[in-house]
Amino acid sequence: MQNWAGNLEYSSAEVHRPTSVEELQDLVANASRIKALGSRHSFNTVADTDGIHILLDSLPQEIVVDVARSTVKVSGGISYGALGRALEEQGYAIHNLASLPHISVAGAIQTGTHGSGVNNPSLAAAVVGVELVRASGELVTLSADDDAFLASVVGVGALGIVTGLELAIRPSYEVRQRVLTGLSWERALADFQGIASSAYSVSFFTDYTGDTIPQVWLKALDTEGALPDLFGATAATSAMHPLPDMSAENCTEQLDVAGKWLDRLPHFRHEFTPSNGEELQSEFLLPLDQAPAALQAVRGLSEKLAPLLFISEIRTVAADEFWLSPFYQQQSVALHFTWKPLQTEVEAVLPELEEALRPFGARPHWGKLFTPGQYDFAALYPRFEDFRALVQANDPSGKFRNGLLDSVLGVAVTS
Ligand SMILES: Cc1cc2nc3c(=O)[nH]c(=O)nc-3n(C[C@H](O)[C@H](O)[C@H](O)COP(=O)(O)OP(=O)(O)OC[C@H]3O[C@@H](n4cnc5c(N)ncnc54)[C@H](O)[C@@H]3O)c2cc1C
Repeated sequence: MQNWAGNLEYSSAEVHRPTSVEELQDLVANASRIKALGSRHSFNTVADTDGIHILLDSLPQEIVVDVARSTVKVSGGISYGALGRALEEQGYAIHNLASLPHISVAGAIQTGTHGSGVNNPSLAAAVVGVELVRASGELVTLSADDDAFLASVVGVGALGIVTGLELAIRPSYEVRQRVLTGLSWERALADFQGIASSAYSVSFFTDYTGDTIPQVWLKALDTEGALPDLFGATAATSAMHPLPDMSAENCTEQLDVAGKWLDRLPHFRHEFTPSNGEELQSEFLLPLDQAPAALQAVRGLSEKLAPLLFISEIRTVAADEFWLSPFYQQQSVALHFTWKPLQTEVEAVLPELEEALRPFGARPHWGKLFTPGQYDFAALYPRFEDFRALVQANDPSGKFRNGLLDSVLGVAVTS
């Protein structure tokens, strides 16, 4: 089995598709190494194991709205695309979506996946309950009242196999999307927060060369009224793809045409399945107020980065409270890099980029390419030692561990 990008061949010895939670509990209890695999959209080895890989698609799949609680109960393996359609049919929505609807709900939440918007926290922020199978095989349901909740929601796969989640929902809403072209870097750096706050969700697309940011995508709630001023940029008059040479036919509708949240918040249409293996990704999250200085630092590397880049997307994410969330107590700017599929060259340039972002306290996206040795995770995450202690207590033999987790958390101490 490979990941979506095709840059990784998983090393699992066995793959199981349990048909009941009880079967999953038995598998976990008796395994020495085991991990859940979601929709395989991570670019690094975070989901890898040399033991058993669990696929959740044969478990009962449910999406059940609880009107009284304004929540939906969703099975872990379901994709955001399927969840979005089911919610919309019943007149509901969630607060935000990532750029792609095909990713699994559990896998996305475990790694802190996010969309954009200064007031929009990551997808994990919608979680009000999580049901998971611990390393012992015990099935537990955690809510905000439980100590382990804030550690387990964005658990990077280290604290259990998630079989179900309860997510906060809201009434369905409409969004209009407009693309601005040619925003000057001068204006963007002078008023980054103002521009990033000018619509519900804002994304800047650049390769850091030149004096202008080629595209800014503004996604405004239909209730927000007129879209903001253009900040000296130009409103596109035809639909655009973030990559200048690509057709916009697979992109969600733009030009201020209002549409349902699930058809506007992702950049790409749900019915379009992006081709596999043609890109790599990295992403670094740092305090929003550091954005201008950090962006200038990255611009200073543009000659090295641009030849390897398809595009970089700059987004914002509101703070949350999950211990290992890259947005833990930090309103953030997210610097995302979509690389050409040149892994050796990308891995060669990453440490220099990570070094440039280190002074700003950059935290790497758990599901994308980064260099673990570049980070002092205990300094970056105030609850890191608490997380490590919880992992040690719940999984003393390290059955959910792999090489990447060991390099982040330290090797499991087998008791
Ligand atoms: C084209 C593309 C676009 C993307 N866009 C965005 C974006 O807009 N924003 C963003 O933040 N990220 C984005 N990502 C990254 C992606 O959201 C993360 O890599 C996410 O983890 C993918 O979810 P998955 O189900 O594929 O997880 P996998 O890669 O399958 O697994 C990731 C981790 O989650 C764990 N996991 C999976 N399922 C479970 C479970 N049931 N219980 C416990 N642990 C589990 C795995 O063990 C592993 O540790 C994108 C990736 C791609 C390929």
